[in-house]
Amino acid sequence: MTEDVNSGFRYTQLDGLPIYQFEPWTNQPHLVHVILTRHGGVSRPPYATLNLSRAVGDEPSAVECNHARVYSALGIQSTQVAQCHLVHGRTIRRVTAQEAGQWLGQADGLITAQPGVMLSMRFADCIPILLHSPQRRAVGLVHAGWRGTLQNVAGAAVRAMVEELGCDANDITALIGPSIGPCCYEVGPETVRKVTMALPEIAALLLRDSGRRTYLDLWQANYQQLLSAGVGHVLNMALCTACHRDLFFSHRGDNGRTGRFGVIIGYRTHNDDGTTDI
Ligand SMILES: [Zn+2]
Repeated sequence: MTEDVNSGFRYTQLDGLPIYQFEPWTNQPHLVHVILTRHGGVSRPPYATLNLSRAVGDEPSAVECNHARVYSALGIQSTQVAQCHLVHGRTIRRVTAQEAGQWLGQADGLITAQPGVMLSMRFADCIPILLHSPQRRAVGLVHAGWRGTLQNVAGAAVRAMVEELGCDANDITALIGPSIGPCCYEVGPETVRKVTMALPEIAALLLRDSGRRTYLDLWQANYQQLLSAGVGHVLNMALCTACHRDLFFSHRGDNGRTGRFGVIIGYRTHNDDGTTDI
């Protein structure tokens, strides 16, 4: 088990869209994965420009145009994309090929081993966790804010990949994507109390006092939870959205009025003759 902070990730362009990718995964045949930024779309401030959320007050036509740009750049269809309403819980949904292209109700984790299904979520400070099991060719995507972290949503997603998809937890690599870091995530006494109650064994690791302010390290919490769930390899990009508002939407950093950037992961379908359908 190793932790590599900020290594192995590359910042590049995909058909005009700035993206982050995890270098080792770009060599995995048919695996699609992308961490988008706030750039490359058509939305106007405060959603400028690649906002993918339909629920933050942005112009609907701009959001649809942004989605179309992303799918075109990735070479995927909207009918392949599985999305859910993020509610800060610990519900994990297994997505079948028949369900792709649909809204899947409320969940904060999506998993699949079906080629052709693209898991998609939107973020602005909460933690994106990308999961990949190369042996099983299975993927997962998790949305973890502080409420989800206290419920161990990351561990729930790993367990679902093991129990429902037949993955070996040790074969899974997890990426902790751009999200609010311990540098910026100040929390109040009520959150401190809840963290201390829910995660007593690691609370001391997570809370950093700086004079009269307390900061919560959600990266460390999720890192520990992923390791405890048996994940073989966890990598933290250690890229703070509030520190990098030039690159990402940040709910805290932008005072609540902002967009959401996208994260997508899935396997393309693959024909036996070596061609790829989609
Ligand atoms: Zn920061």
